[in-house]
Amino acid sequence: MDRCLIYRHGVRTGDKVALTFDDGPNPPRTEQILAILADAGVRATFFVGGKWAERFPESVRRMVAGGHLIGNHGHSLRLRVGDYDEAEAVIGHLTGVPSRYFRAHGFDYGAYFQSGVSRLPESRVIDADVNPADWTVTAAEEIVRRVLEHPDLGPGSIINLHDGSESDDASVRLSRPLPTIAALPRIVARLHARGLRCARVDELELAEPIEWTATRTAAPPGHAPSL
Ligand SMILES: [Zn+2]
Repeated sequence: MDRCLIYRHGVRTGDKVALTFDDGPNPPRTEQILAILADAGVRATFFVGGKWAERFPESVRRMVAGGHLIGNHGHSLRLRVGDYDEAEAVIGHLTGVPSRYFRAHGFDYGAYFQSGVSRLPESRVIDADVNPADWTVTAAEEIVRRVLEHPDLGPGSIINLHDGSESDDASVRLSRPLPTIAALPRIVARLHARGLRCARVDELELAEPIEWTATRTAAPPGHAPSL
């Protein structure tokens, strides 16, 4: 039976948290986020969609140049056999190395299991313990509040934000991340004020995974699914 370990956070000691961004690249919104991260001197993880990485390869190269980690969020951002394999090929072509960090779009692990990469022992599946559903929010301060007042926020937290969208409608892709961009400088500053330091997912010591099998495709109980 297919199974995988899903990591929602790292060790709860130390001072590292991971900012993660899904559904990009999405220029120029991705570049605006990269500029904020550079100003703050922090590194993050971008779980990119393969179809967007193919369309916007320069944005992926800017992520890499900024020292950020590229994760695999699937290719089409829809349920499709081999979708994560296709995205892995695009990422490997652009960056020279495959990503062994995966985040299932919509946390749909059934779709992830339809790709061969799910059976590689080196693959790491990354969920999040701080999930503000930023794509549903239009007020930046509400996103800040949902992150900073989240009961699970602390050392080891993985924070799920979005720099893009699965939508082929460019107006949706360009408008949806705006509140997140407005919130991001405040989020980083307040994490730092709490003594938390932003790191890439591969710089966290991942801990306490949830075991998941291919017979169960819904989100774990109590888990707020994300897109
Ligand atoms: Zn997604």
